[in-house]
Amino acid sequence: MNTEQFRRAGYQAIDRICDHYNSMEEKAVKPSVEPGYLQKALPSAPPTKGEDIEVIANDFQDLIMPGVMHWQHPSFFAYFPAAGTLESIIGDLYASTAMNPGFNWMCSPACTELENVTMDWAASLYGLSKDFYNSANVGGGVIQTNASECAMLAIVAARSRYLMLYPDVPMEKLVIYVTTQTHSLGLKAGLVLGLSVYAFPVRTEDNLSLRGEDLREIIEMDRAEGKHPFVIIGTVGTTSSGAIDNIDEIGETLSDYPEIWLHIDAAWLGAAFSCPEYRERCRVPAINEYADSVCVNFHKWGLVSLDCSGMWVRNRKHLTEALDITPPFLRSSEGDAGTVIDYRNWSLALGRRFRSAKLWFVLRSFGVEGYQAHIRRSISLGEIFVERVREHPELLELVVPPSFSLSVFRIAPRAVPDISADELNELNELYYRNIDKRKDIMLTRTELNGVHCVRFVTGALETKPHHIESAFAICSETAKASIKEYIE
Ligand code: PLP
Repeated sequence: MNTEQFRRAGYQAIDRICDHYNSMEEKAVKPSVEPGYLQKALPSAPPTKGEDIEVIANDFQDLIMPGVMHWQHPSFFAYFPAAGTLESIIGDLYASTAMNPGFNWMCSPACTELENVTMDWAASLYGLSKDFYNSANVGGGVIQTNASECAMLAIVAARSRYLMLYPDVPMEKLVIYVTTQTHSLGLKAGLVLGLSVYAFPVRTEDNLSLRGEDLREIIEMDRAEGKHPFVIIGTVGTTSSGAIDNIDEIGETLSDYPEIWLHIDAAWLGAAFSCPEYRERCRVPAINEYADSVCVNFHKWGLVSLDCSGMWVRNRKHLTEALDITPPFLRSSEGDAGTVIDYRNWSLALGRRFRSAKLWFVLRSFGVEGYQAHIRRSISLGEIFVERVREHPELLELVVPPSFSLSVFRIAPRAVPDISADELNELNELYYRNIDKRKDIMLTRTELNGVHCVRFVTGALETKPHHIESAFAICSETAKASIKEYIE
């Protein structure tokens, strides 16, 4: 392909991307394909001779796109949003021009420096303490692939810091603390690192968030048994219900155990830190005071396309001491002089994508006000759904208080007189299966302390109030039909 062919193919691709977004609403949210559909449609080996780019692009349209789930669809209310933007696509396109793995500053100074700057911008947008700024030269921010990697790296840094203090502690005595509501990233990190994980049970009456006193009790018990808790993952905005751990209580408790690292997973809710009115509720002051590391996924609610996960550390030396391996071929004079950041020492991979470009395009195009408007809009759309649920107590109920743009609901016990708790769960499973059969809307389910329920999250940029009204109509009609089906 030469540049003229690239120009033609590129214009065609941009036209198709625009058509895709312009016609998104007319499409079903979910694809109607069966498992293995693509394997049947594609040859079992690559072509022997190169093919025309137009033929490939047409096949992409005809074969690949029909199997794509539309996370940006206005009626996508599942998981958490992937609220990527056109600005982000442009940023990614330009980033692809710089096809380099900028792992050291000298490998591509602009890649490192734009990441330094945009991570400071994002820290400022989110109201994070200057301790986390790259420009302060002690802490700093780095873009990782995802929140799971951020958590794992925080754990690796925490372990290294702990073992420097207590070099004789055997690995099998180390314990990672999470709660039963922490994302599976905690258990996965334990699995990968071969470390024990303890998941604190959390009470529904505490809004499913961890209390400082419960933490203290278990630390003391574990220590008495010879165990060494060395890191805790506190979540601000859990996946199931948007619960926010009591970071202030956890932080105060950890003041008595300063060797235990506090990592904050705010993968989804962190985007709401951009609005000053939500910071107190999101425990940002406590994060600023106590957290050793924080993660916010720009690629969830934060307007940037996958993958782009922000990680800030209070003291970069803990990350680099844990991760810096510098064979002669990776040395550089700037790195040796310690005057630059070499991001390879802040992450798992050596080569890294130029992710800050898309973050830069987004932050500049939206500005602080545009970013805040997106967050406030998503929350007010979610409130419409909550209001409708509350208006129909004979049919539906909220299982826990709504959390920003996320609400968790189910068919209410009073909708079916004399139903047992197990039967109500069965009914709500049936209810979710019936919602899930639909292609025009997407929601996901969860379970909160044994209660089966359905989640509803807003955040797609094109969602309007009428999409919420239609979604509620579908949810209430499906609830009535599911009750009828269950009783019969
Ligand atoms: N943390 C929370 C609270 C999440 O909800 C999720 C995913 O939904 C994750 C972490 C995992 O994020 P990632 O896919 O970036 O690893």
